[in-house]
Amino acid sequence: MRCLLVEDDEMIGESLRDALRRQALAVDWVRDGRAADAALASERFDAVLLDLGLPRRSGLDVLKALRARGDATPVIVLTARDALADKVAGLDAGADDYLVKPFELDELLARLRALGRRAGGRAETALQVADLRLDPATREVSRGSRAVLLSAREFALLHALMERPGAIISRAQLEDRLYGWGEELESNAISVYVHQLRKKLGDDRIHTVRGVGYYAGEPKG
Ligand code: CA
Repeated sequence: MRCLLVEDDEMIGESLRDALRRQALAVDWVRDGRAADAALASERFDAVLLDLGLPRRSGLDVLKALRARGDATPVIVLTARDALADKVAGLDAGADDYLVKPFELDELLARLRALGRRAGGRAETALQVADLRLDPATREVSRGSRAVLLSAREFALLHALMERPGAIISRAQLEDRLYGWGEELESNAISVYVHQLRKKLGDDRIHTVRGVGYYAGEPKG
């Protein structure tokens, strides 16, 4: 999942970014409304975490402009206090959800998962591809009856592949999903994670299409 974090408070922004990255979400962080406009115009995000009180352009104006462009990217508004007017204005302007600061990281993660499910139109939380099963809510992965323990990045990579079983996902798309701007990235990082996943899951569930990308599921023969 790739998130845009729009937050001008350095301490809140840094701790949120680091916490989300530890969950292997790709996080891009901008600190004012104009930078948020630019990011939203040039990249696709799975979710936006939007502070309302921002320099240069308010979060509310950023949100209104986004919706006016017909962009339905899910937005969670972060309000500084339990201000009813802020919440109402945010929801009226097209926010999908809101959180009142300070909030627990677990709550934010649960809201993000809910947005992901709604965006994918899925009622079921767990993904199943052949005998592989992945549950984004509990972060449990199994092959058949065998539970498999994955690192956060391995989990994020497998999640990206299992969301679209059989579809070939390019290395660049996977890098986008796993890494935010400015994160150090070895050129072979994705192949290393694929290698580790195959060691843990067996080598017949994640397939390489040379020069194109990877897919999960039964081999295409
Ligand atoms: Ca602020």
